[in-house]
Amino acid sequence: MRKKIVAGNWKMNMTVSETKDLIAKLKDKCSTNDVDVVFVVPSIDVTTAKECLKGTNIKLGTQNFYYEDKGAFTGEISAKMILDAGAEYVIIGHSERRNIFKEDDAMINKKLLKAHSSGLKPILCCGESLELREKGTYKDFIEKQIKSAFENVSESDALNTVIAYEPIWAIGTGKTATSDEAEEVCKFIREIIGKLYNDNVKSNIRIQYGGSVNAGNARELFEKEDIDGGLVGGASLKEEFINIVNYK
Ligand code: PEP
Repeated sequence: MRKKIVAGNWKMNMTVSETKDLIAKLKDKCSTNDVDVVFVVPSIDVTTAKECLKGTNIKLGTQNFYYEDKGAFTGEISAKMILDAGAEYVIIGHSERRNIFKEDDAMINKKLLKAHSSGLKPILCCGESLELREKGTYKDFIEKQIKSAFENVSESDALNTVIAYEPIWAIGTGKTATSDEAEEVCKFIREIIGKLYNDNVKSNIRIQYGGSVNAGNARELFEKEDIDGGLVGGASLKEEFINIVNYK
């Protein structure tokens, strides 16, 4: 039985003071044992968020890191820095990192390997553009993204990876994939994982859907057989997130 995981990707939003206010509004009602809840905050907010979340079981994550240990990588943060600051999850391969910051499949694979060897829990994003969806080649594209990301990743590390299927055309657009469209791809990703590893990893790896998830559509999406929760952008910055976490 896979435990659902609902993660809020705050993106480049929330100053340190705003972080305190938002967590004060969300923390009590988002602290539940029914699902794993992760606040994925800007790295500068981690220490404050950690303090504010004391006494809850809400987990913390960051949105990016670099795969080297330390050194001349101006502007970057390491896995060790994230863990030491008190976060345990990290998003890898978000489409905004792939498209705006030109992160390619090879870099995403290096980050996934490094996250695991450092003890960070990765949320690996994949998903197609509108163009590929309309062309009908989206599954080929996603298969390539998954195969490349998991190159040299061990079975036990694969099991500890959360995959987020995020069709780019549904991110921040208000246009959600229907629950059937989301389920089709999440099931397909699970099959790819089954072929890369085995039935155990296939049935236990957690696969989220992300793309304009809100309080009105979360339940229908998260109740699908192969959808194990969501990666939520816009709605994670509002009290609406409480209803997404408590979607049942
Ligand atoms: C995201 O940023 O991962 C995301 C899914 O955003 P939104 O929920 O705003 O579409």
